[in-house]
Amino acid sequence: MKLRRQKHAKKNMGFYKNNFQFREPFQVLLDGTFCHAALQNKIQIREQLPGYLGGPTQLCTTRCVLKELESLGKPLYGAKLIAQRCEVQNCSHHKDPVSGSACLLSMVEEGNPHHFFIATQDQDLANKVKKKAGVPLLFIIQNTMVLDKPSPKSLAFVQTLQTSQLVPEHQKQSIVQLKEKEGLTKQEGEKRRKRKRAGGPNPLSCLKKKKKTQESKEPSAEKKKRRRKRYRVKTKAVQSVQKNEGE
Ligand SMILES: [Zn+2]
Repeated sequence: MKLRRQKHAKKNMGFYKNNFQFREPFQVLLDGTFCHAALQNKIQIREQLPGYLGGPTQLCTTRCVLKELESLGKPLYGAKLIAQRCEVQNCSHHKDPVSGSACLLSMVEEGNPHHFFIATQDQDLANKVKKKAGVPLLFIIQNTMVLDKPSPKSLAFVQTLQTSQLVPEHQKQSIVQLKEKEGLTKQEGEKRRKRKRAGGPNPLSCLKKKKKTQESKEPSAEKKKRRRKRYRVKTKAVQSVQKNEGE
């Protein structure tokens, strides 16, 4: 079971490395719910996660997550301690902290440029993360951490990327458009040419033919004359010989 889980993780990590340029150290953004669940399930995130993801891992959080955990007080004191040991990533809510989930979602906006993982038990946040391509999701289920399989959104993104690498979709369209345009311009050109041909090209071809006939007639006439001369001589000779023989 453990091996199978590891195998799935390796496969999924390969997906993110190959298609979304995830590199070590893997940066995992933790929210309060994940820290809380890790504590309850006695999971040593810091020790286990590098082995599971297959590389050095940096645990991160944001100031908004820490603020939220502080505000929730004693029940989440342990979770807060875990979060406080994480590296605090700069979010855009310096003066006006937002909820932990809203903050983490903002961290993976615009194609997740910093290649963050999101580790959460918040189903609502998880669903929102799944709607973005290229954001790996970690959660805890049955006392173990699980890297979620790539979301349909991520798969679709990669598929369009791969097909576009052969011939980009926008280029396909532009090619079609260009062909149509060229087709139209060709048709117009052909029409024009046809109109011209009706009056124009025939004399040209006639001229060429005339030239050819003239050129061909002259030498042939000379040849014929020569042949005739020779023929006449020969025939006369033959005739005279024949006549002589006959006489
Ligand atoms: Zn924030």
